Amino acid sequence: MSSEPVKLRPHHGMCLAYFVGCGYSEDFSSHMGRFLARATPDMPVRLSVETDAICAGCPNNLDGVCEKPEQVAGYDRAVLERCGLEEGAELSFGQFTALVQERVLEPGLRREICGGCQWSGICDVQPSRWKK
Ligand code: SF4
Ligand code: SF4
Repeated sequence: MSSEPVKLRPHHGMCLAYFVGCGYSEDFSSHMGRFLARATPDMPVRLSVETDAICAGCPNNLDGVCEKPEQVAGYDRAVLERCGLEEGAELSFGQFTALVQERVLEPGLRREICGGCQWSGICDVQPSRWKK
């Protein structure tokens, strides 16, 4: 990946922690798997409350806008707030995922944020891949 920051929705810091291959389509799951395989801790990311590098492969991305824009923006803002970050923040992927783990996942706050998501039952029972 280039050194240009990768655009990342904050709530995807949680989704990526629990991803086990399920997704909105086979292409989307492959895209997510490739992202995870290539994402290194030192990869720079820019946190953005709009469609991102993960959404790029999603069938719910309708001309650059998620079909559930308010719901997912709410997830994003909740993650930003709990991590003490602002939209537009630039940091390394490793710093971001460590914050998500420490401030959201470890204290068990994920379900409060995105318990209404269709994948919540899966994310509930997976160990976080950000746990050290
Ligand atoms: S387009 Fe929407 S549903 Fe698809 S990955 Fe992005 S935020 Fe999630
Ligand atoms: S429940 Fe949905 S939004 Fe929440 S971490 Fe899992 S896939 Fe992401």
